[in-house]
Amino acid sequence: MNLHEYQGKEVLAGFGVTIQRGIVAKTPAEAVEAGKKLTETTGSPWHVVKAQIHAGGRGKGGGVKLAKNLAELETIAGDIIGMQLITPQTPPEGKKVSQVLVTEDVYYPGASEPSEFYMSVLLNRASGRNMIMYSTEGGMDIEAVAESTPHLIFTEEIDPALGLLPFQARKVAFNLGLSGAAFKDMTKFVTALYRAYEGSDASLFEINPVLKTSDDRIIAVDAKVTLDDNSLFRHKDFEAMRDLSEENPIEVEAREVGLNYVDLEGNVGCMVNGAGLAMATMDLIKQAGGDPANFLDVGGTADAARVEIAFRLILKDPAVKAILINIFGGIVRCDRVAQGIVDAYKNLGDAINVPIIVRLQGTNADIAKKLIDSSGLNVLSATAFQEAADKVQEAIS
Ligand code: GDP
Ligand code: MN
Repeated sequence: MNLHEYQGKEVLAGFGVTIQRGIVAKTPAEAVEAGKKLTETTGSPWHVVKAQIHAGGRGKGGGVKLAKNLAELETIAGDIIGMQLITPQTPPEGKKVSQVLVTEDVYYPGASEPSEFYMSVLLNRASGRNMIMYSTEGGMDIEAVAESTPHLIFTEEIDPALGLLPFQARKVAFNLGLSGAAFKDMTKFVTALYRAYEGSDASLFEINPVLKTSDDRIIAVDAKVTLDDNSLFRHKDFEAMRDLSEENPIEVEAREVGLNYVDLEGNVGCMVNGAGLAMATMDLIKQAGGDPANFLDVGGTADAARVEIAFRLILKDPAVKAILINIFGGIVRCDRVAQGIVDAYKNLGDAINVPIIVRLQGTNADIAKKLIDSSGLNVLSATAFQEAADKVQEAIS
């Protein structure tokens, strides 16, 4: 589950990470109120207005702007709220902004120049350990840094049994070229950030930029936070942060009915029982020259009701040109599944406007095939894996 910047910052602050303070606003008037409130603590009339969408690169797209007084704040908030924000990370048509984060300005002048760093925490799948990835080249596209100056990106791996050790936090501060108060503050920042990552069961933190202010404080200016969906059951308070308008509507609906659905780019809808078989099915479709439109694991009980829901979900994707049903009948008998498919098909009537290819293997597969073949419906049956994939190819070409 992805969070908005303001939510990510709340999570960080809850674990003692210093953040650029801000207040969310849905209207220009609310933005002005937020600005007034922030000025009470900062004493500064300067604020930054930041579009809250699930995509980075907002600055480049005009979604992050500095306001030097309340009148400017109101105008800028008015411009950004409701805009269709296009960034390198949004779909081509952009994303509609419905709220902004009004923040304190942390790039104020002082004894030294502010400087921007990059820092992320994530799992290194190769080593099976969490790592902190960081760079002196903050504020820019980290992929570009990795491409042109890879030696400026550092990583620090954390032993799961020991956790982040004090010397590691000092190493990060040292490699970022810090000294004095900024060095000390960076060790605190890194320590709190890692504690937040573990404590929130996150799968990604990306803080770009981490700012060293002109008076040597270390602050998270941005926050991209991804939480592990499988851990949400132990963070009930996080569930409220889910923004359904940022998610794929078919995936949202599937989750509500307990189906495992992931939307993909292709045109062959898949309905499979078991995640492993689902992945093998997608590989096979690819190998036959097709492209899966989705990953869908209907689980162990592929009964008529579940098959019908699965049909409805798959058909919501307008790109779907054929549906491949690949079910292994181990616990569930194939003839029951076949009957389920026939019943669901009849219930849905005209809603099914694409050919359906069914492969049922396992207990009572032969009875199932007869049931499908004699149903008189636009359903093709197959016994072998390859045969099924070839029939799909024929159907869509
Ligand atoms: P992103 O473009 O989506 O990554 O959004 P960020 O939160 O990273 O903000 C983009 C840029 O806005 C930063 O890299 C800064 O240069 C600038 N910015 C953010 N906060 C402030 C601030 O308090 N004052 C000033 N002057 N600029 C800021
Ligand atoms: Mn950023």
